[in-house]
Amino acid sequence: MKPLRRKKTIEITDNPITGQDRILNVTDETDILSDEGSIDSSGLHRRFFLDCGCIAAAFGRCFKCGAISCQVHHGICHKCQMPICLQCSTFQDTTNQTKKRYCGRCYDIITRKQKLKKIGRFFLSAFIQMDSQNGR
Ligand SMILES: [Zn+2]
Ligand SMILES: [Zn+2]
Ligand SMILES: [Zn+2]
Repeated sequence: MKPLRRKKTIEITDNPITGQDRILNVTDETDILSDEGSIDSSGLHRRFFLDCGCIAAAFGRCFKCGAISCQVHHGICHKCQMPICLQCSTFQDTTNQTKKRYCGRCYDIITRKQKLKKIGRFFLSAFIQMDSQNGR
């Protein structure tokens, strides 16, 4: 049976960051003339999820892994302001209950600084202790 009409629609997002197209939806429709003389349409609709697992408008692309995320899951690094996906983000709790999002590189720098501070404090407290013992 020869198809009367074929229709293929591909929905893509234009990504302002990469300039590359990304497929979001593919619709494949075929109309055929049946033996009874009716025009039968059958179609296939394929939906592509975003990398964050959502079916939503693409919002941004991760600068590290290239993942496309929706508005909810996409974010920027608090330090270097680069766009990052959820997988590449590390969240750090701050005192005022808001979580800061960092990319792996910046998080490494921050935690290293904090570790050094802790070591510094440890040496300082040991020194003060020794000093007070000597004074006795
Ligand atoms: Zn990523
Ligand atoms: Zn999402
Ligand atoms: Zn960063």
